[in-house]
Amino acid sequence: MHYVSTRATSASAARNPQQFSDILLGGLAPDGGLYLPAEYPQVTGAELDAWRKLSYADLAYEILRKFATDIPDADLKALTARTYTPEVYRNARADESNADITPLRVLEDGPQGKLVLQALSNGPTLAFKDMAMQLLGNLFEYALARNNDELNIFGATSGDTGSAAEYAMRGKRGVRVFMLSPHKKMSAFQTAQMFSLQDPNIFNIAVEGVFDDCQDLVKAVSNDLEFKARQKIGTVNSINWARVVAQVVYYFRGYLAATTSNDQKVSFTVPSGNFGNICAGHIARMMGLPIDKLVAATNENDVLDEFFRTGVYRVRKPSETFHTSSPSMDISKASNFERFVYELVGRDAERTHALFRKVDTHGGFDLSGAPGSDGDEFKDVAKFGFLSGRSTHADRLATIRDVADDYGITIDTHTADGIKVARERLEPGVPMIVLETALAAKFNETILEALGQDAERPAGFEDIESLPQRFVVMPADVVRMKAYIAEHTGL
Ligand SMILES: *Cc1c(COP(=O)(O)O)cnc(C)c1O
Repeated sequence: MHYVSTRATSASAARNPQQFSDILLGGLAPDGGLYLPAEYPQVTGAELDAWRKLSYADLAYEILRKFATDIPDADLKALTARTYTPEVYRNARADESNADITPLRVLEDGPQGKLVLQALSNGPTLAFKDMAMQLLGNLFEYALARNNDELNIFGATSGDTGSAAEYAMRGKRGVRVFMLSPHKKMSAFQTAQMFSLQDPNIFNIAVEGVFDDCQDLVKAVSNDLEFKARQKIGTVNSINWARVVAQVVYYFRGYLAATTSNDQKVSFTVPSGNFGNICAGHIARMMGLPIDKLVAATNENDVLDEFFRTGVYRVRKPSETFHTSSPSMDISKASNFERFVYELVGRDAERTHALFRKVDTHGGFDLSGAPGSDGDEFKDVAKFGFLSGRSTHADRLATIRDVADDYGITIDTHTADGIKVARERLEPGVPMIVLETALAAKFNETILEALGQDAERPAGFEDIESLPQRFVVMPADVVRMKAYIAEHTGL
């Protein structure tokens, strides 16, 4: 299995074939594009039948081995077995006794259609990012040991990604994490989750400033290529291919759990920001999984909804990005979207490159086919099953209340965006699976606003704010930041 960049000419791709392990530790391709398989592996009906009986870990192994062909089967099997265990994904909800890693729950099965919730937040940080990040931690440790190398992950977080990365990398040999967050700007819960980690390879740096200051520091340090190389600095952001492919697994699991025969179809609604999660659904569909619709649900930051309604992709300026009560979807551009656009324009890398150059120079592109537009491929979007919808703060409050009243469960704000949009897209005969992307306890302020009472906390989290915290406070100063990194890597 070879990987190509969405911007690579076929000549450069042929000169430079990449395997899974080559792109595992990296981010963007050198040409600025994103990696994708040269072609998608296909899944047969017989395989799907056999996979119905598998545990989550074994299913992950079967899917990953189609993509990570340069990792020996026995090693991959050990890695997935170590990752997807009930010890890591304890079932966070008291009322679900089955030990599946991503259990389904039917919310509604009426004349309008069937509405199902797939739980993805039973990992250590109570958000779906654990599903991929935990595997990444084990893959990184494995790959670094094989090359006798080390890696220093350097990133900025306003919440979910940073904690998922830290919980995945804690105690891993060869890996250190330096994670910047805005000092005193995260919720008490999120702060406690990250800062209570005592592992010596985790460095929490509270920057005196806002999230943008943290991101600017990451950019400034990463732009110093000599420093970056010497300090072996890498990232774990959402464009990482291994993260995307790890997410493909739960689409298969959801499909297999919701159906009894491969003649049946299901649809998915996905609370979306950077298009990483739903991109995995798209890949599952391209592999032959019988998915009918893939519905992207956005909040007020509706870049993706706008594209799927109109064919116009128009990124926002940071100043035009709303701070919402589903903050992990507050994005100004969708960093994985290029992976779908490449497919939409018929895997034409030159075209893809030109369109995304236009994003940089003109803030977007238009594939609506209107006079003066950049193309007419929007007419082909339906072939890929994509639909969309958007949700607002008022919708979230109403949906959280409705779901509590109707089904007796408390959902988080991002999942509420998903349910709101999914309800508009129900169809009889095709189950609609909404991906639950976080637990309500992480976003308690809005739960309190909606329900007048606190979200329930899973066992082990009752009192995390009172645990001892380990972090340093630093001004937004590049020179000091580099000195701190160098001091702690010893490189
Ligand atoms: C990251 C995140 C999302 C958005 O996922 P993308 O892959 O960026 O589209 C949605 N909900 C929660 C809770 C998240 O943490």
